[in-house]
Amino acid sequence: VFQPLAHSMKPAVSLQNISRHFGQVQAVDAVNLDIAEGEFFALLGPSGSGKTTCLRLIAGFEQPTSGSVVIFGEDATRVPPYRRPVNTVFQDYALFPHLNILDNVAYGLMVRGEKKAARRQASEEALSLVALAGFGGRKPSELSGGQRQRVALARALVLKPKVLLLDEPLGALDLKLREQMQTELKALQRRLGITFIFVTHDQGEALSMADRVAVFDRGHIQQIGAPQNVYDRPETPFVADFVGSSNVLPAHLVAQLIGETAPASLRPEQIHLTSADGKLSGKVIGSAFLGAATRLELDVEGNSLSVLLPKAASVPELDSTVHLTWDKDALHVMRGPDV
Ligand code: ATP
Repeated sequence: VFQPLAHSMKPAVSLQNISRHFGQVQAVDAVNLDIAEGEFFALLGPSGSGKTTCLRLIAGFEQPTSGSVVIFGEDATRVPPYRRPVNTVFQDYALFPHLNILDNVAYGLMVRGEKKAARRQASEEALSLVALAGFGGRKPSELSGGQRQRVALARALVLKPKVLLLDEPLGALDLKLREQMQTELKALQRRLGITFIFVTHDQGEALSMADRVAVFDRGHIQQIGAPQNVYDRPETPFVADFVGSSNVLPAHLVAQLIGETAPASLRPEQIHLTSADGKLSGKVIGSAFLGAATRLELDVEGNSLSVLLPKAASVPELDSTVHLTWDKDALHVMRGPDV
């Protein structure tokens, strides 16, 4: 799945055949990945798939079992974390509760030995950047979750990293706030032009924010691509199922390909009900009202199939037989195990 970048794109971070094993556990296994300068890149995958370990390898908190980490063209594999041009925003924000917001943001500059006036000015600038000007005197406990998240961002940005690593940055926020912060984070990244690499298990978050996504499964990258590409053209059943919801069916059932045993994906929203001359027919075994749409569950020759009906469509009755069709390019034959 390694996709070299186009020549015009200089990699900010390059993972070269990198592995990290913990005893028998192959947390990251022979991963190759180039992330371009200025990219907003998502490491997406279920719990335990190795994405945090990858992020920690880039940060330098973790040493690879084999392979190398190259940052802006230099081998950083043995470079300690504090000497890499990267900074990390942790999921729990790791703010100091006894320090006020300004001192929290200024902390890294103090460690670097910057003068007090310069620290103050840079920290105030960083706070304005995340729309928290005027909050410097408060304690972390006096802020909302979303505001604390932005302080954590400001604290990383004040150090002017070339690459910002974010570990589930929005994981602690409720849904509404998370959606709002997704938009803000994306806008901030555009404005600053810094490379952002973030870890998430939330496919909606990865698709909505990232320029490109790497989909992890058990220490391996299954697919790398732009969100639209990964969604429309999943290369494996795992990706089809993890990114959005998809029907994975044997290709011979849906495409009548003689001798073909590859799995095929067909998104529920791309299937339409039609008159008797459809491509498949099935029995309605369930339906769920979702607000903006209705999801039908069908039985098609012993395979279950989901169909998303637009709100305006009439919903067929349970146990009735429906006929289905789809556009030619909606069906996508994948590599991977037989189904
Ligand atoms: P999550 O979303 O739950 O954080 P993840 O995709 O980030 O998951 P990792 O944290 O990278 O996954 O973990 C990958 C695998 O490596 C898991 O099986 C995990 O238990 C194991 N692992 C990670 N760190 C260590 C460690 N320090 N010691 C032993 N095993 C570890």
